Amino acid sequence: MVRYVYDFPDGGREKAGLLGGKGANLAEMTRLGLPVPPGFTLTTEACRDFLATGTEPAGLTRELSAHLAGLEEAAGRRLGQRDDPLLVSVRSGARFSMPGMMETILDVGLNDDSVDGLAKASGSERFAWDSYRRLVQMFGSTVMGVGAPLFEEALDRLKVLRGVPDDVHLDAADLAGLVESYKELIRSETGEEFPQSPADQLRRAVLAVFLSWNGERARLYRRREHIPDDLGTAVNVQRMVFGNLGADSGSGVAFTRDPATGRPGLYGDYLPDAQGEDVVAGIRNTVPLAGLERLDPHSYEQLREHMRTLERHYRDLCDIEFTIERGKLWMLQTRVGKRTAEAAFAIAAALTDEGLIGADEALSRVSGEGLARLMFPRFDASATGEPLARGLPASPGAAVGAAVFDSAEAVRRHAAGGEPVVLVRQETNPDDLPGMVAARAVLTSRGGKTSHAAVVARGMGKVCVCGAEDVVVDTAARRLTTRDGTVVEEGAVLSVDGSAGTVYTGAVPLVDSTVMRRLETGDTDDDGIPDALVGAVTRALDRADEVRRLEVRANADTPEDAARARRFGAQGIGLCRTEHMFLGERRRLVERMILAGSDTDRDRALEDLLPLQRQDFTGILAAMDGLPVTIRLLDPPLHEFLPDRLGLATRLAAAEARGETPDGHDADLLDAVNRMHEENPMLGLRGVRLGLVVPGLVAMQVRAVAEAVVERVRAGGSPRAEIMVPLVGDVTEFRLAREEVDRVLADVSATFGVPVDCPVGTMIELPRAALTAGRIAEDAEFFSFGTNDLTQTTWGFSRDDVEAAFFSAYLDKGVFTASPFETIDREGVGRLVEIAVAEGRSARPSLETGVCGEHGGDPESVHFFHAAGLDYVSCSPFRIPVARLEAGRAAL
Ligand code: PEP
Ligand code: MG
Repeated sequence: MVRYVYDFPDGGREKAGLLGGKGANLAEMTRLGLPVPPGFTLTTEACRDFLATGTEPAGLTRELSAHLAGLEEAAGRRLGQRDDPLLVSVRSGARFSMPGMMETILDVGLNDDSVDGLAKASGSERFAWDSYRRLVQMFGSTVMGVGAPLFEEALDRLKVLRGVPDDVHLDAADLAGLVESYKELIRSETGEEFPQSPADQLRRAVLAVFLSWNGERARLYRRREHIPDDLGTAVNVQRMVFGNLGADSGSGVAFTRDPATGRPGLYGDYLPDAQGEDVVAGIRNTVPLAGLERLDPHSYEQLREHMRTLERHYRDLCDIEFTIERGKLWMLQTRVGKRTAEAAFAIAAALTDEGLIGADEALSRVSGEGLARLMFPRFDASATGEPLARGLPASPGAAVGAAVFDSAEAVRRHAAGGEPVVLVRQETNPDDLPGMVAARAVLTSRGGKTSHAAVVARGMGKVCVCGAEDVVVDTAARRLTTRDGTVVEEGAVLSVDGSAGTVYTGAVPLVDSTVMRRLETGDTDDDGIPDALVGAVTRALDRADEVRRLEVRANADTPEDAARARRFGAQGIGLCRTEHMFLGERRRLVERMILAGSDTDRDRALEDLLPLQRQDFTGILAAMDGLPVTIRLLDPPLHEFLPDRLGLATRLAAAEARGETPDGHDADLLDAVNRMHEENPMLGLRGVRLGLVVPGLVAMQVRAVAEAVVERVRAGGSPRAEIMVPLVGDVTEFRLAREEVDRVLADVSATFGVPVDCPVGTMIELPRAALTAGRIAEDAEFFSFGTNDLTQTTWGFSRDDVEAAFFSAYLDKGVFTASPFETIDREGVGRLVEIAVAEGRSARPSLETGVCGEHGGDPESVHFFHAAGLDYVSCSPFRIPVARLEAGRAAL
C-alpha cells in the first residue's frame, strides 16, 4: 500500500525525492538530535496523485488524521483546542529548493475560540490576536483566493490610523479589529466564511500547498531553473513555535559561511519579536547575527554549535531558519545553501583543506557556469566617483541599466528590444520574479542578504544590492530619492556593483575581472596580494585537468587569439575559420577572384591571396607550435564578400538618375551579386560545394597551409596543421575535395623537399553526413561536429532568425527548456552525433572526433560530448577554462 505521510524521525536525506528537500532535512536534523519542533511530511507522491486526479488520494485523509493524532498525543494538546491549543504550520517543500515560490500557512488551528485559549496560555492577548490575524490573512489569500494586497491595504490603513510605523506597535484590540476586517473581506470577496474547524483548515491548507506547485510563479521559476514540472511538492505539517512572543523571542536565518564570498564564520540576519516570514520579506530591517549574540548569548552559542554539527554532517555550507521562543532555540529548516560562484570555489577549497571533502568532491561542487560568471568584467574602480547609495553586496558582478520601478516595466523594456534595466524595489516578493528575470540587476532599499531579492538574485546569478537604506523608493511616482536629496527618475542609467554593494548614477566603464586576467597570465602578475579566489579556481581547474578525458581546443583564427587560447590552457585549435581572413583590405582581392572573366584572371587573384593566407597560417602555427591546428577550408557563400545588393543597385540607379555613366566596377559587381543571389544562402553554394565549383580555391588555401608548414619546419618549429572540409553531405564530395588536397600537399612536399603530412578530415554538420558517417570515415581521418549547422539542419531552424522569432514562445510552451543552439539537443542532434561516432569509429578505429560548434563551450553540452566519447571540444578562447572545468566534472 502506498504510504503518503512520514513522521520526521522516519524520514531522512536519502528520501529527498519523496519528502522534498525541507521534509528530508527536517527528518535529518531530528535524527541528529537537534531541537526540531515535531511534525510530519506528506509526500510528493501524494501531491502528484492529487494534481493528476483533482481529488485526494484514497487513504491520505486517514493517514493525515492518524499522524495529526500522534502529534496531538505527543504534545498533550489537540489542534485548535479551546484552552492552550496546538497550532501547526503547513509549508511546501519540493525536491529542489524554490524559495518563496509556493505557499506557506502558519498558525493553522486558530479560531474564534482557540484565540482566547492561546492568549491565556501565552499570557499575551496581543500575541494571540497577531497570530490569528496572520492565519486569516495567509489562509484568505492562499486557500480562499482573496488578493493578498487587499489584506496589506487593510493593515496599512490601520497603521496610518494609529500613526504607527510597524505592525509591532498595534495592540491586541487593534489586531482583533483587524481580524474582523479580514473576515469581512473574505466574506465579501468569496461569499464564504473563514472556516472555524481546525481539521478543515488543515486539510484545505494542505491541498492549497499542493496546488501552489502549479502556480504561475512556481512554473516560471522551474522553467528558469530547469526543474522538471512533474515532481510535485511535499507538505510539511509541524508544531508551531513562536518568534513573536516578545523581546526574548525572534526569528532568523543563518549561513554557516558567508554565501557571497565563502568566508568562514556565522552569518545571517535576526529579527526580534517576529515570525519567520518577516525576516526574508524585508518588512522590518533585521539585525546581523552578531546582534543576537548580545541579545541572547545562550541561544547564540547553541546556534553556533548546531551549525557546526550541520556543516560537519552535510560537509557543506548549510543555511538554516530558526526561531527563538522565549529563550528556547528551535531549528525550523536547513539545507545545503545557495551561494555565489565566488563562494562556491572558496568553500570547495576550504572544505578540502579542512579535510571534510576530497578533491573530486570539491570539483563536483563548482561549475563552469559559475566560473564564466567570475570571468565577467567588473567596474573600473578608477572611474567610479562617490556612490549614489550603498547597500549590502548580495549577489556579485557589475551591471549597467535603466532604472525601472516595477516588474512589469522591466519585462516590457526587456521584451521591447533587450534594453538593460535595473529593477529598483523597496523589497521584492515572488511576484517580482518576471522582472528579476528581465533585469540585469536588482536594487532594494530594505532587507538583508538573506532577503527574497538576495536569495533569488544569487540563484539566478543576477547582480544584486539590497538594503540600501539611504534610498527611498517611490514606486507610484517611479523614482527614487536618496537621503541627500538626489532624485533618480525611471529610465535614468544606474551602475550596480553587487560585489561592493554600491550603486552609481550613469554608466561606469567595465574592466576585465581579476580571475580572468590571472587565469590568462598565470598567477605571476600578482600585485603583491595573494588572491584566494584565484587560488581556489586554479585548484579546481588543476583537478579537472588531472581527471578529464576530453581535450579542450580553441576556435581561433588569428595568432593573437591562438596565443590567448593557449594561455587559457587550450590544447590546440579545433576550428580555424578562414573566412575572417578574407575581409578588410583583402576583400578587393576576393572580389577580383569572384568577378574574374577568365581562368587566368582568377588564378592571378588567387596567387595574390596566397602569400597573405600563408602568413596567416604561419602566425597561427607558430602560436600553437607543437599542438594541432585544424584549418577549415572556406565555408560561407561567396556573395558574403560582395557588397550589399540593395545598396549597390540604389547607388547605380542614383548615378543613372543624375545622368552619370554608371561606374563599371559597380555594374560588374551588381551583375555578379545578382547572379549569385540565393534565397536560402545557408543551404546554398557554400562549404565543400564552393571548393568543388570554384576552380583553384581549395588548391590556393591548401598550398598556403602546406607552405606555412614548410616555413615553420625550416624555422625549427613543430607545426601540426590539419585540413578540414566543411559542410560535407556525401562521401563523394569529400573524396573529390580530398583528391585536390592530397595533390597539393604532395606537390608542396616535393617542391620544398619537406614532407607535409596533414591529416585531412571533415566537419559533420549535416544530418546526411552523420547518417552516412561510416562511409565518410573510410576517407576522412577526423570528424569535427559543427553543431551549429547540425542543429540548424536537423531542426530546420534558421540559426540567424529563429532565436528572435519564436524561441521565447517555445521556451514558454515548454517545447524545449534551453535554446538548442546553446545547449545540445541530446535526443535529436545528439543522437546524430552518437550515430556518427559509432559508425565512423567502426569504419576507422583511429578516427579522431571533436566538436567545434558553440556547444563546445556550453557546460551541459560538454557533459554530453564526454558521454558520447568524443576526443575533444573546441570553443572560443574565453570559454576554455569553463570547458576544462566541465570536462573534468563530466569525468567524475
Ligand atoms: C558549425 O556549424 O557548428 C560550425 C562550427 O561552423 P560555422 O559556425 O562556421 O558554420
Ligand atoms: Mg558550420
